[in-house]
Amino acid sequence: MKWLVWDFDGTLAHRVGEWPAWTQTLLEVLDRKTPGHGIDPELVRPFLRTGFPWHSPEVNHQHLDSADAWWGALEPRFAETFRAAGAEEARASEMARAVRGAYLDPERWRLYEDTIPVLEELSSSGWKHALLTNHVPELPEIAGRLGLDRHVERIFNSAQTGYEKPQPEAFRRVLDALVGTDEIWMIGDNAAADVAGAKAAGIPAILVRRRSDGVEPYCEDLTGVAEIVDG
Ligand SMILES: [Mg+2]
Repeated sequence: MKWLVWDFDGTLAHRVGEWPAWTQTLLEVLDRKTPGHGIDPELVRPFLRTGFPWHSPEVNHQHLDSADAWWGALEPRFAETFRAAGAEEARASEMARAVRGAYLDPERWRLYEDTIPVLEELSSSGWKHALLTNHVPELPEIAGRLGLDRHVERIFNSAQTGYEKPQPEAFRRVLDALVGTDEIWMIGDNAAADVAGAKAAGIPAILVRRRSDGVEPYCEDLTGVAEIVDG
């Protein structure tokens, strides 16, 4: 058996918008709840660079054992961001509770153009596909709506496991679950979480879409992956 373990966000799919996904989401909530707010997105961004589970991968979070608990842990950070953008307390809390629905809006999620053709090509040469993601609890539903459930057999998602990449345990769980694996590769757009994490766990890895100095092998898009894993 041979497995390809894919990162999801920024590798197979992405959330559309002019700004990084979380900044974009909070801006969408502001646009909806406070039309004409005139908030500079650069004011929002710094608040969202810390405080998420994947910003502290060394901290396990099995205690956030339901989707409500997971989102509930983030709400204070969202509320703080909205307060910094000028919202008063009650309004900020209301908008913080709206972030979940906005982020999950199916209209905002897209596969990259090469995703399905490349997964199909690799399936036809005998590879099975799994996801290993640092993501929200609803990731399996997002992936399913995008049609990935027809191609991906296993999903390992940090919001369910409590372990964020590049923590070794995140990768060890994949190796433990995919017993009888002869060959395995990790593929992702994050040099630290995906590539360094996988390599530290003994899994060869390919960086895609986002170059990072000295990290090889690297592919601009997914079309180069087959040549590497089958070469
Ligand atoms: Mg990614």
